[in-house]
Amino acid sequence: AAVTARYRAHLSPARATLGELFGGLVESSSSGAWVFTTDGRALLNCGGYGVLLMGARHPRVVRAVTEQIATHPVATRMLLEPRAGAAAEALAAVTPPGLDHVHFAGSGAEAVEAALKLARCHGRTRVLATHGGYHGKTMGALSATGNPMYREPFLPLLPEFRHLPYGDAAALEQELAQGPADTACVIVEPVQAEAGVHLPPPGYLSEVAASCRAHGALLVLDEVQTGLGRLGTWWGADREGIVPDMLLVGKALSGGVIPVSAMVARQEVFQPFGSDPFVHTSTFSAAPVAMAAAEAAIACIEEEGLVSRAKALGSHLLPRIRQIAAECLGELLVEVRGAGLLIGVELAEPGLTAELLLELISRGVIANHSLNSHAVLRFTPPAVLTDRDVDILLTTFEQACT
Ligand code: PMP
Repeated sequence: AAVTARYRAHLSPARATLGELFGGLVESSSSGAWVFTTDGRALLNCGGYGVLLMGARHPRVVRAVTEQIATHPVATRMLLEPRAGAAAEALAAVTPPGLDHVHFAGSGAEAVEAALKLARCHGRTRVLATHGGYHGKTMGALSATGNPMYREPFLPLLPEFRHLPYGDAAALEQELAQGPADTACVIVEPVQAEAGVHLPPPGYLSEVAASCRAHGALLVLDEVQTGLGRLGTWWGADREGIVPDMLLVGKALSGGVIPVSAMVARQEVFQPFGSDPFVHTSTFSAAPVAMAAAEAAIACIEEEGLVSRAKALGSHLLPRIRQIAAECLGELLVEVRGAGLLIGVELAEPGLTAELLLELISRGVIANHSLNSHAVLRFTPPAVLTDRDVDILLTTFEQACT
């Protein structure tokens, strides 16, 4: 009750109400895929909006971060500092070929801001985004986010943003060919996550890349949620072997311990940022603690084979969740879809999804709804689920559906 009261008094009353809706549970610690509450409950965390690829408190990441805090937590920003280069090199080594220049930030939205600013450095203004696309809630990122509900209270947003249907490469080609000729960039998710887990038709990403190239617009692939193995491939870009001009990474990049995000660009695209050390800065950008976390997290993903684990787990979970949902929900179910460990369950209406979410949480499994489509429940479990965790997830889902 004291926790709820403080939310009400000093944070957000609405958030307090949401917490109460979920049983007033108060989380106190976590380990791997599990979250523990102050009243001694253990919940399997299959939510986290994609942050927890390697589960909570991965020992290697925790060690790297605590050692860095104990020795040199904050850079002078005047001298050279070795951590940033090491993390950038590690990230460049796993991103698609040619993407080798990195700007580090904290949130996903900040990575988006960096991309939008860098795109505009190249002399053009317009930005094309997609309906339902989610890129964050700072003013620039929100200008790209395709959800009127979040946008309308803050209008006017940045000028010269236009939203097109996701998955429709022909509409984009037409806009680029026949619309104003000053499109700076196209920003798109390889699989839309917050829109409710939408996989584009095969060929879409390649066609988008080809249209961008043909019309001189930069392609910004927002992989804040899909990147680093979540989809069972290192990047959503790998689904069609494309290489964007800029790739945005966040969430799991720090191993889920602190906010770290990145905008990774080709050298000639990055040039305006690379030629002036002060053109786009932020006090905590590339902070040594963040860099230690990112380097350790990337090493974990590689050495523990988390990408292929995500793929294997996803190909087991998706058909089972689909089958259970079809059997137990009948016509209340619209569709189950996903890739790797990004799995969406769309119900006939948002109220039903909220009920199912509540049932799951009260039975000990945390899932999320999708920020841009409340009818779609989302599972984004870590790639470190054990066989027992998988059983618990499936059994609990079945019970919650019945
Ligand atoms: N882009 C995508 C694709 C996302 O899913 C999100 C977060 N859900 C963001 C950007 C924004 O990230 P953040 O919340 O860290 O600002």
